[in-house]
Amino acid sequence: MKTPDRNGHFGEFGGRYVPETLMALLLDLEQRFAACWRDPAFRKEFHFYLAEYAGRPTRLYYAERLSKELGTLKVYLKREDLLHTGAHKVNNTLGQILVARRMGKKRIIAETGAGQHGVATATVCALFGLQCVVYMGAEDVKRQALNVVRMKLLGAEVVPVTTGSCTLKDAMNEAIRDWVTNVKDTYYLIGTVAGPHPYPYMVRELQSVIGIEARKQFLLKESKLPDYLLACVGGGSNAMGLFYPFHKDKKVHIIGVEAAGHGLHTGAHSAAITAGTPGVLHGCKSALLQDKNGQVISAHSVAAGLDYPGVGPEHAFFNASGIASYVGITDIEAIEALKMLSVTEGIIPALESAHAIAYLPKLAKKVKGRKTVIVCLSGRGDKDMGTIQEVLG
Ligand SMILES: *Cc1c(COP(=O)(O)O)cnc(C)c1O
Repeated sequence: MKTPDRNGHFGEFGGRYVPETLMALLLDLEQRFAACWRDPAFRKEFHFYLAEYAGRPTRLYYAERLSKELGTLKVYLKREDLLHTGAHKVNNTLGQILVARRMGKKRIIAETGAGQHGVATATVCALFGLQCVVYMGAEDVKRQALNVVRMKLLGAEVVPVTTGSCTLKDAMNEAIRDWVTNVKDTYYLIGTVAGPHPYPYMVRELQSVIGIEARKQFLLKESKLPDYLLACVGGGSNAMGLFYPFHKDKKVHIIGVEAAGHGLHTGAHSAAITAGTPGVLHGCKSALLQDKNGQVISAHSVAAGLDYPGVGPEHAFFNASGIASYVGITDIEAIEALKMLSVTEGIIPALESAHAIAYLPKLAKKVKGRKTVIVCLSGRGDKDMGTIQEVLG
C-alpha cells in the first residue's frame, strides 16, 4: 500500500480537515509539488542547493568512544548538526522555497515555535530574495530572543502572536489565517511533517534525503542494514526523514523518541503518541494531547523544538501499524545525554537530538549480543547554551 492515499490519509490519520476556502489551495499545492517532484530538473536544482549551500551529504560518523561506553551498541551518528544553520530544517525549507518559486509566489510565511524553523525559512528567503513573514507566539518571542534577532538580521518580519497560549499552535493558526487572506502571492512554508495534506507527504519526501544517504553510507561501512534507528520526534520531520527509506526493511527496528518532559504522569510533556489520543489539530488527524472535551493541552519540553502538542500523522500511523515504536525521554535524561555525548565524542548536540541519544543506554541494556544503531543527530547545541546554563546553575 502506498501512503498517503489520494486524500492524504495514512491509515486512519492525516487527511485535510480544513475550511472550504483552503481546499482549493491545498489541491493546487498538491499538484504543483507532484509536478516538481517528477521533474528531473527540479530534483537537480534541489540537490544542487542541498550540496553547495547546505553542505550535504552529511557524515555518518561512527561514535567509537560512545559505543565503548555503551558496551552492546555500535553507534553511528547521522550528522545533520553539521548543515548550514545547524539542523536538518534547511532540507525542508530549501525544497519548499524552490516549489514556491516555481509557483511564482513572492511572499513566504511561516510559523515558528523555538524560532529554528523561522530562521531556516528566513535563511532561504534571503538566499532567493523573497519577502518573509514569520508568525511566532509572543511567549516564544520572549523566550527565544536570539532567534528573533537572527530572523530580523536575515531580513524577515517577525509577527508576535498574542492569542491563546501565545505559543507555536497559536502561531500556526495565525499563519493559516494570513494564507487564506493573501493566497494570490503567498506561500505557506510549514516546518514539519504535520498540517493538512500535502504537507506531511511533501516534507517527508524532502527530508527523506537523510535516510536515503544514511542507508547508502551504512551499507558501505557495514555491508548490511542497521539493527536500530533512533530519532527524536517533535512534529516528526527529522525522524520521518531517517525512517521512511527504511520503513519496508522488516529487520530494522525503528524507534521514535518523544519528550516526556517532567514525566508522563505529570501532564507536563510533549508525548503525543505515547500519552495522547487521536484528534484533529492544524488540519490533520493524528495523535494529540487534549482534554476530555477535545481542547488542546499545552505541551512542555526543555527542548523548545519538541514542545508541540501534536505529531505528524504518519508517525501516528507508524505507531498504530507497528512499523515503528515510540518511547519517552524526560528533560533530565536528555540533559544527562547532552553531557554524555559532549564528553565522550566532543559533540554538543541540540537538546532535541539529546532525547534520541538518551535512549541509547536504555537500549544497550535491552539488546542481546552486539547491535548496530543509527541515531539522527538533528542539530547542534549552540542554541541551547542559555537553557543549559540555567538548568546546571
Ligand atoms: C525543530 C527541531 C526538531 C524537531 O522537529 P522535527 O520535525 O520533529 O524534526 C528536532 N531537532 C532539532 C535540532 C530541531 O531544530
